[in-house]
Amino acid sequence: MIQIREADITTLSVDAIVNAANETLLGGGGVDGAIHRAAGPELLDHCRGLGGCRTGSARITPGFALPARFVIHTVGPVWKGGQSGEAERLRSCYLESFRLAEESRIKSIAFPAISTGVYGYPSIEAASIATQTMLENESDFDVIIACCFSAADVTVYETALGRKPPAPSN
Ligand code: ADP
Repeated sequence: MIQIREADITTLSVDAIVNAANETLLGGGGVDGAIHRAAGPELLDHCRGLGGCRTGSARITPGFALPARFVIHTVGPVWKGGQSGEAERLRSCYLESFRLAEESRIKSIAFPAISTGVYGYPSIEAASIATQTMLENESDFDVIIACCFSAADVTVYETALGRKPPAPSN
């Protein structure tokens, strides 16, 4: 089952939440900052030992003080106009996250809209990639949550999943 929810991802009681991290894995702004604040300083200590993560890859850690048991940290691409392999690397973030989740027998997982904040990826294009990978992996999980941080993003995901007709253009 794929659920679209408008929520702060740090509040979700799921097996794993996904973090839109940067290559250092040492914290940042946006969802990354929120996850580190909610997980507590042990998460940063743990991440220091991982030696970073390349764009399109993922790493798994405990959730520490979070309600989620695990955090899967993945590094989305910075949007540079769309001709720099952004789509392939964004897809890789989702696929690598699903792969690590399956290895850890995770059955419920929540994703933020990776790359669509500071990294500037256009929301509609990003949601199309996100939902495609969710549909491909849906049968391996009890629930996959697309965790949106705005009502506008909820509409973008509903449209991407064909649950809502696009708004008329006139
Ligand atoms: P990136 O650097 O990958 O663009 P950001 O954290 O800037 O990462 O933004 C990614 C998405 O996460 C954006 O859609 C942003 O609105 C959303 N976001 C920010 N904080 C939270 C949160 N606490 N829970 C869920 N989503 C969040």
